[in-house]
Amino acid sequence: MNWKIRLLVPCLSLTCLMTCTIAYSKESEQLKALVLTGQSNHGWSVSSSHIQHVLEANGLFSVEVTTAPPKGADMSHFSPEFKPFDVVVLEYNGDPWQELVQRSFEEYMQLGGGLVISHAATQNFPHWPAFNTMIGIGGWGGRDENAGPYVKYRNGSVVLDDRPGVAGACVDPHEFQVVTRVADHPIMRGLPSRWLHAKDELYSDLRGPAKNMTILATAYSDPQRSAHWGVRTTGTGEHEPMAYTVRYGEGRIFGTPMGHVDGGAQPGSGPWPAIECVGYTTLMQRGAEWAATGRVTQEVPVNFPAEAARPERGER
Ligand code: ZN
Repeated sequence: MNWKIRLLVPCLSLTCLMTCTIAYSKESEQLKALVLTGQSNHGWSVSSSHIQHVLEANGLFSVEVTTAPPKGADMSHFSPEFKPFDVVVLEYNGDPWQELVQRSFEEYMQLGGGLVISHAATQNFPHWPAFNTMIGIGGWGGRDENAGPYVKYRNGSVVLDDRPGVAGACVDPHEFQVVTRVADHPIMRGLPSRWLHAKDELYSDLRGPAKNMTILATAYSDPQRSAHWGVRTTGTGEHEPMAYTVRYGEGRIFGTPMGHVDGGAQPGSGPWPAIECVGYTTLMQRGAEWAATGRVTQEVPVNFPAEAARPERGER
């Protein structure tokens, strides 16, 4: 929820203009981010502390981290507050939240909340319909054609492919090019049209409701490379969504399937090139600001990966 917008309404009266101006301190101008973590088949303690660091690094966000009980533990007392935050970053892929928390999160998003998900979080909550509408596409967890279409990028257009099949495959970690598809979106403005992402798993065959969804960037899933842990044994030979937005009610969601960290990884281990990549970090920072406010005020960092010299295969 963007409290600044809420604040603006009473401020339209001249009589309270002074009070509002005084209350508008530098600290309160920071966006409030909640990083929610504690369970994942990936290294959540590494990824959550990394995202806390990168959101705090540019001074735009104040960050609070909430850690859920461990997987399999009693979740009945896990009841995070969402409303105080402009954006929620889910570094979580685990046990279902209790009904009350689900409804509270749905309301938060419907009324203008922000959500950022990456990598393992795309596997979250396969049986929570509203969550799947929020994230647009997901993988694994028993998702199949009942979850919605596969989302592909073919011949310059987004294609919703209804063919039956399970969701989710993962090409073995390698460096790959990310191709911008909507250059004038606030998150993408100023980024190279194609750039080399650091070594990461490349997810494919994600599917879901895909409503009110914009595919911002794609990457080519190389059929010469082997895939594991999913529906296929090689890459798809197609461009797969790598960055996207979804609108849910008044809420905004930014998602990317990039950002692998090995399960069980602890802070201080690594390196973890997928999340340390300046390209990934920049997308997360910009995606979080856009999810919180609908705008992006951040400059593209000077050390952002350079424009790739050659077009990516299948790039049209
Ligand atoms: Zn992974």
